[in-house]
Amino acid sequence: MLPKPSLTVLMASPRGFCAGVDRAILIVERALEKYGPPVYVRHEIVHNRHVVQSLRDKGAVFVDDLQDIPTGRPVVFSAHGVSKAVVGEAEDKALFTLDATCPLVSKVHHEVLRWHSKGHHIIFIGHRGHPEVEGTMGQVPAGAMTLVETVADVADLSMSSDTPMAYATQTTLSVDETMAIVAALKARYPHLQGPKKEDICYATTNRQEAVKRLAPLCDMFLVVGSPNSSNSRQLVQVAMDYGCPRAVLLDTPDPLHRLPLVGGMTVGLTAGASAPESLVQDILRALQDHFSVETKEESGMSEGVSFRLPVILEGND
Ligand code: SF4
Repeated sequence: MLPKPSLTVLMASPRGFCAGVDRAILIVERALEKYGPPVYVRHEIVHNRHVVQSLRDKGAVFVDDLQDIPTGRPVVFSAHGVSKAVVGEAEDKALFTLDATCPLVSKVHHEVLRWHSKGHHIIFIGHRGHPEVEGTMGQVPAGAMTLVETVADVADLSMSSDTPMAYATQTTLSVDETMAIVAALKARYPHLQGPKKEDICYATTNRQEAVKRLAPLCDMFLVVGSPNSSNSRQLVQVAMDYGCPRAVLLDTPDPLHRLPLVGGMTVGLTAGASAPESLVQDILRALQDHFSVETKEESGMSEGVSFRLPVILEGND
């Protein structure tokens, strides 16, 4: 048998699950243990279909509409957060809610409410249609916030330059693109106020930084994550922006056989904040079926972040 061609795989660090995703999954699992199935979850708890399916297998039921939930059963709000209208609807229906909103998303909700109470119009930088954007913009009355997705959108803003304004951002954006949008906003609105500390979360920033370090060394970058995961998609873009000629998003090994992988290549491997390490290892095993793989683990920073569970679910071990 011919020897397998060699492949070097550079493992980005940190990669994969963040503290907010860990917490959200644990909330659903603890609720299932404590209250038994079914536990309802509004929308996907995190943007990863494997995570969603494994919780579904344990008895979680994912719904888009609170009307589909019987009174008395627990309902978990996802890590992306919900609008005030959704909270109000749950109260009207007397639902038993457990909030898995990531504390870093809740922090942005508080910021937005603070700017609104001070009479500022708020520019929100984010992706239209993303649940986090709907939840954050839904903290204040319609018209109090304007969504900006690109630098080009800034030119279309109609507010005069003396309008009291502030900005906030989705937590999972590209750091570089967001900086460019903020710079364009500040050029147009010199009095623009902003968060004391970036809204883009530590996990998004750290995963992008790890990809930036490795991208120039790689012939191809594999990003493990689902297509609806904003921070996973950003990692694909970051890899290409920082010198890797090709970057691919995948959440199973299936697409590997269609990629132009050949012996002697160096491949980067990372995972978005909602992708479990088990999927990374699946990809690695699939590569090892065809190549003699040398893995090099980047010595990235240890994040050491964790968030408390809701009190009602603590001590449920
Ligand atoms: S990506 Fe960031 S904001 Fe989103 S759940 Fe993870 S830590 Fe929280």
